[in-house]
Amino acid sequence: MSNAEILLWQGKFRRTLVLLAGFGTLGLKWGEVISSDSVVARLIGADAALLIGAGQIMLYFAFIQLMMRYVKKSGHAGHGAIVATVVADMLLLFAIVFTTTPPSEYSRALILSIFTLQFTQLYYGQKATLYHLATVVVFFTMTVLAAGKYGATITPAELFWDMAIVVFCVLLFAGLQGQMAERLRRIVSVFEKAQTGDFSIAYDETADKMPDAITVVGRAYNRMRGHLETIVLTDPLSGCYNRRGFDQLVTREVSRAVRGGHPLSVLAIDVDHFKRINDEFGHLTGDEVLREMGALLRDTARLGDVVARIGGEEFEILAPDTNAEGAQILADRLMQAFHSRPFSSVGGRRTITISIGVGSDVARNDQIAGTLMARADEALYVAKRNGRDRTETWHPGMRAFDGSLPGRRSIEARAMTGDEPRS
Ligand code: GH3
Ligand code: MG
Ligand code: MG
Repeated sequence: MSNAEILLWQGKFRRTLVLLAGFGTLGLKWGEVISSDSVVARLIGADAALLIGAGQIMLYFAFIQLMMRYVKKSGHAGHGAIVATVVADMLLLFAIVFTTTPPSEYSRALILSIFTLQFTQLYYGQKATLYHLATVVVFFTMTVLAAGKYGATITPAELFWDMAIVVFCVLLFAGLQGQMAERLRRIVSVFEKAQTGDFSIAYDETADKMPDAITVVGRAYNRMRGHLETIVLTDPLSGCYNRRGFDQLVTREVSRAVRGGHPLSVLAIDVDHFKRINDEFGHLTGDEVLREMGALLRDTARLGDVVARIGGEEFEILAPDTNAEGAQILADRLMQAFHSRPFSSVGGRRTITISIGVGSDVARNDQIAGTLMARADEALYVAKRNGRDRTETWHPGMRAFDGSLPGRRSIEARAMTGDEPRS
């Protein structure tokens, strides 16, 4: 919510409150239910003092009207508008106290100012609260000094002591609330990260020296984080990362590889003739094959490799710190695993084979992942064209597509024109 919006709704609240509370108080004083024996009343008479009080209320009302019109018209409320409003609040409070309240009751103004300071802290933060508090100190001091000057019997030390207590409490509370706002900001930033599918940041409970409700929310989030990460970043069928998870881990691995100047490899994997498996055994069995396949890929890859299902029966493996030779070894191991593995979902009656395209290079910049994925795709296409059940590694002379750009864009173009599919 913007400051302008807050000032506008508060403006309505201020208008109502000042009319009800202001004229209500003046009414009680006029009816002598409470005392109106003020410094001003002694100088010019009680009724005249009450009339001045009414004038002060009307002036304040007019100020609020003008301020609201300005904010509405400009659609904006800067720090100046907030400070001006707060100063007007306090000016009214202390002016009306000086005009209509006996000096012995000046502390009432301090009690009321605590309430308004809370509002300022809540809606405009610590900086505005400090301005507000400074205004209270100045106006209260002026009120007490003016009362003394016009001969009121007051004990300034007692009144200033009241003020010191208020200032101390408000500063303490503003400090605590400032900390709280900071922790809320921290937790919101953690939630915002999670909204983008990034669960890497936990709420730091250890930073909460005095645990409270915010800590409880942070703890609940930390408990939930692992589950959310699994739900959002993994593919429920194969148990591998999904596209989102893959992209996230690729970003992390690529920046690590770029920093160290390490090689990276991407393996694009597509099941051979998967349609036939669906046609022969049905889609549910096809799904079971994908489930088994996901486990097999993960078991065969190294621990740091990122295995993802990025499409129907298409998988991709990102192998960090792996050059073309290393990627070939991994691809051979995968081929071997598929050849020797009897897939129980098809009753072990069928060998399921895969084709693999490999792209490898040293990570020189952040674009390397996209480049390697496009190269792996192109190599995979060549593997399919060369008879399937094989691995092809991309090299600069490789031309799988008719289009000028290798990789996904050519595949997409092919799919759109209805030409021969990649796989
Ligand atoms: P190729 O050797 O050329 O790759 O032949 P293919 O039959 O595997 O052809 P392609 O890769 O183009 O086809 C993918 C097929 O995989 C299409 C669809 O029937 C099947 N498929 C895609 N996603 C799923 C899935 O989630 N579950 C099942 N059961 N089948 C899927
Ligand atoms: Mg296929
Ligand atoms: Mg396919």
